[in-house]
Amino acid sequence: MTANLLDFDLEGLAVFCEGLGEKRFRATQLFRWVHQRGMSQFDDMSDLAKSLREKLKVHAHVAALPILSQQISKDGTIKWLFDVGSGDAVETVFIPEDDRGTLCVSSQAGCAVGCRFCSTGHQGFSRNLNTAEILAQLWFAEHFLRKHLNQSERVISNVVMMGMGEPLQNYSALIPALKAMLDDHGYGLSRRRVTVSTSGVVPMMTRLSQDCPVALAVSLHAPNDALRDNLVPLNRKYPLDELLAECTHYLAKAPRDFITFEYCMLQGVNDQIEHAQQLVQLIKRHAAQGLRCKFNLIPFNPFKESGLLRSADATVAKFAAILIEAGFVTTIRKTRGDDIDAACGQLAGDVKDRTDVAHRIAQQRAVPVQWLQQRPQPSDGKP
Ligand code: SAH
Ligand code: SF4
Repeated sequence: MTANLLDFDLEGLAVFCEGLGEKRFRATQLFRWVHQRGMSQFDDMSDLAKSLREKLKVHAHVAALPILSQQISKDGTIKWLFDVGSGDAVETVFIPEDDRGTLCVSSQAGCAVGCRFCSTGHQGFSRNLNTAEILAQLWFAEHFLRKHLNQSERVISNVVMMGMGEPLQNYSALIPALKAMLDDHGYGLSRRRVTVSTSGVVPMMTRLSQDCPVALAVSLHAPNDALRDNLVPLNRKYPLDELLAECTHYLAKAPRDFITFEYCMLQGVNDQIEHAQQLVQLIKRHAAQGLRCKFNLIPFNPFKESGLLRSADATVAKFAAILIEAGFVTTIRKTRGDDIDAACGQLAGDVKDRTDVAHRIAQQRAVPVQWLQQRPQPSDGKP
């Protein structure tokens, strides 16, 4: 087995080069050929010594993931389905906008968190992706798009870890991938333009702030623990007060002076005026400790197994108005690529469930939607 060079950040590649008896600075040249130029053939890397190229041919390779499908939406969004072996496949989405190009990257085949409203979660969990499988999504997309759009400059300006999986449950593979995204010899993205989205793995948020503090989005979805326990089962381990206290700590290292809270709008479940008021109370309590945030309301993208419905536009607008009135910057996410099932929460890939997640979700569904639709108590929401 030779090493896939997409598995390394620059430091890792330097160690690899040293192992081949080469000077560390060779790694910088090699890293640039691979990530900035999109090269995979060592013979094309003209400023590398022939002796190094020969060694690389024996000990290394640069391999993208096999593509199972590519779909292009009428709004320009592109979705790829990549084969990661053993019957598992993951999805990656490119979202073009006037002032940026965003790539939504997957971190796991499936997800073990099992959120009730997420189609990845409904599929269960197969395995973590390795660094090469995470970075290969960006490597392929960037260099494919440059050719496709006939552009010599960088196409992808932003990366969001919002594809399939919970990135902070795959921490050791995630960090080198993030470092390669940020590295000036790699993709050179600023820390503000790389976002990790998490359902709230609190101890790993602490580590991320120390190891690689990129922009942070936290999937909140409920204003009280009773409801969040049901929508995002991880809340039973890391309840709201603990999660929000960690968000406040994260800000000390964050590249932006706010955390983005994502809130998926589910008809009758978490979208009522009382929920918005309770959310305001909750966040204001933490704002007094230094929490700064923005809200991003995501209209739910339905899939049939969920049994849930998207909130009406007027309900979303009313909810947003309450947050704005309370002084919180609030946006409503535009749905992109829904004609190719590429919108948030629709990424399902193809996952062989090797855990009991699908079983747990079936149990969750035993909690009827009617229960979820109970009005929140006006208190701090503790059950
Ligand atoms: N696991 C991470 C990142 C992947 S999910 C997380 O949960 O944050 C990316 C975003 O899509 C999250 O905010 C998630 O809550 C949201 N999402 C999941 N399912 C959705 C759906 N069906 N409709 C709209 N948004 C959804
Ligand atoms: Fe996993 Fe995120 Fe989906 Fe929850 S919303 S199941 S954490 S991918």
